[in-house]
Amino acid sequence: MPYAVAAPAMPTLTVAGREERFPVHRIFCVGRNYAAHAREMGKDPDREAPFFFMKPANAAVDAAHPQAIPYPPRTANFHHEIELVLAIGTGGANIPVDKALEHVYGYAVGLDMTRRDLQLEARDKGRPWEFGKSFARSAPFGAIHRAQDIGHPAAGAISLTVNGQPRQHSDIALLIWSVAECLTTLSQYETLEPGDLVMTGTPEGVNAVVTGDVMHGTIAGLGEILVTVS
Ligand code: MN
Repeated sequence: MPYAVAAPAMPTLTVAGREERFPVHRIFCVGRNYAAHAREMGKDPDREAPFFFMKPANAAVDAAHPQAIPYPPRTANFHHEIELVLAIGTGGANIPVDKALEHVYGYAVGLDMTRRDLQLEARDKGRPWEFGKSFARSAPFGAIHRAQDIGHPAAGAISLTVNGQPRQHSDIALLIWSVAECLTTLSQYETLEPGDLVMTGTPEGVNAVVTGDVMHGTIAGLGEILVTVS
């Protein structure tokens, strides 16, 4: 059946060591999931249920190899947020926490690039975060490492440098809400589907990048990501 307008291509991501690619459906993002980052954003960390926002599928950038992303319009404060990302392989609703990891296809390093000035203005006015968070090419992802190959990482260093200078460094063991807990909560609000990605939140040290900056992110066991702001 013909489409009425040009059909958008489905974004896909590299799977480490495999030819088949991961199709990107939706991108869910957890807010303030490391205590030290909650504090640097002017909020008290707590154990109230995790909250989520979304990015469009065309935010995804396959950064399994070095990539460039454009400095986006209408911001003067473009921030990096390095995050552990999980890729959903099997969908489901109301997933119990002890079954949640069975729904994870794999894990990757990701960047939740943020127009911080627009996000904070929206936050403080009680408006949606979309223009701060949800824009094209705002989510570079490294190769997805299959859980069947590497297991389910629960601890390990997560780091980001910019032009070789340390910016963010923490451990994924410090997530306030674990991968399984995030999936359980999310699946109570929205039925998860294959191709969904979940960005699990960033540790402290978020800061601005400018055109020409090179971001290098790593998570233990998940390889690296090298992204230039062009
Ligand atoms: Mn984030």
